[in-house]
Amino acid sequence: MKKLTDKIALVTGGSRGIGAAIVKRLAVEGAKVVFTYANSPEKAEAVVADVKAAGGEALAIKASSAIPVEVTAAVTKTIADFGRVDILVNNAGIYIGKAFEEHTLEDYNDIMAINVQAVFVAALAAVKGMPEGGRIITIGSNMGDNAIGPETTLYTMSKSALQGFTRGLARDLGARKITVNLVQPGPTNTDMNPADAPLADYLKTRMALPEYGTVEDIASFVNFIASDEAKYITGSFLTIDGGLNA
Ligand code: NDP
Repeated sequence: MKKLTDKIALVTGGSRGIGAAIVKRLAVEGAKVVFTYANSPEKAEAVVADVKAAGGEALAIKASSAIPVEVTAAVTKTIADFGRVDILVNNAGIYIGKAFEEHTLEDYNDIMAINVQAVFVAALAAVKGMPEGGRIITIGSNMGDNAIGPETTLYTMSKSALQGFTRGLARDLGARKITVNLVQPGPTNTDMNPADAPLADYLKTRMALPEYGTVEDIASFVNFIASDEAKYITGSFLTIDGGLNA
């Protein structure tokens, strides 16, 4: 029996990487999945085609998480086309890593707009008609707990903010039986953090399981937390990092 039959899911940043894997996994489990992308229309269409080939249903919407009205419009279109959002997955994110002295206010505004503000904006729009049993799942980072090394301040700050968001919103929405959880990946093989990146060998020395995670490792847990089996889990963080933070 599929876990998410008849559910409507919205995933931000679903054209590549972890987001694309989440789109495909939720669709395989029976959800109708709308996802956003910003710069990769061909990759977005390839994800839609993969979902259709597997017998599922997906729709790609161009909407930048850097622009609040576009985030709200993506949620509004999902509700207009499909009636509601049952499962919101806040996945879109960017990484900026460099010496602290080299940062600019523009860097701050970019990372906070996409990694934090868009999460708030999407949730605000999605919860309005979200039914009982709804799910808000945000992709943070193991760096929300562990800055790992230098040149990570801005990204670490943005991902830590998601912990406060998750705690607070879980309490706001508990009475409506909507759960709010944070999934914190560690090094996961994507364009953002390729398994053959220069830092990869060092990162592996810090892990209990010395290899990069796959996008499916993250998507499978998102699928679980989206399902009815996880109905009593809220305000929680799960770190999936091969034990890097252990
Ligand atoms: P990728 O860079 O591989 O993919 C990012 C995805 O987000 C793409 O689909 C991209 O779409 C989309 N995206 C980026 N900017 C925007 C935007 N402004 N508006 C809408 N969509 C956008 O990243 P990952 O898959 O690796 O990361 C996904 C999430 O996981 C992020 O939140 C990241 O911080 C987090 N994470 C990743 C880790 C890793 O090691 N990979 C570790 C810990 C956390 P498009 O190409 O269309 O712009």
